[in-house]
Amino acid sequence: MASKSKAAVAPKTTAKRGRPPRAGLSHWQERVLDLVRASAEPASAYDILREMKDDGITAPPVVYRALKGLLDRGLVHRIESLNAYVVCGGPDHHHHQPAQFAICRDCGRVEEITDPAVDQLIEAWTQRIGFVADSRTIEILGRCRDCAARQALAAD
Ligand SMILES: [Zn+2]
Ligand SMILES: [Zn+2]
Repeated sequence: MASKSKAAVAPKTTAKRGRPPRAGLSHWQERVLDLVRASAEPASAYDILREMKDDGITAPPVVYRALKGLLDRGLVHRIESLNAYVVCGGPDHHHHQPAQFAICRDCGRVEEITDPAVDQLIEAWTQRIGFVADSRTIEILGRCRDCAARQALAAD
């Protein structure tokens, strides 16, 4: 693996990052989780890949594998309508039940709401019509409080 032709791909030490590594997470899962957390908006796989150029990562599989592991652990969620990822904002950071997301179209902020009552309701609905749901996540699109207030001001 010691290729001398590739320039500057020596692994960087990340000692400056103060957080202790999470048990069971690989190096790349840690790195991707940090990047998703640091992103102000939901991060696409492409966004993550771009940030990882400095790590010597230029091919998507590393990113997708890491994301898959994080998704399986419930540490990140995929926002289907944005094709992007957010860190789990639920009170229980290892929940696996479906969540609801309020997504701001203006600033991209995503708020996670996890209400078991909603999930139970969806389960009852789908059972009634004999529908076998493989996803019960709800994505609510609109404007966050700040953007709604800004728009109300601009309309005056
Ligand atoms: Zn969550
Ligand atoms: Zn907003």
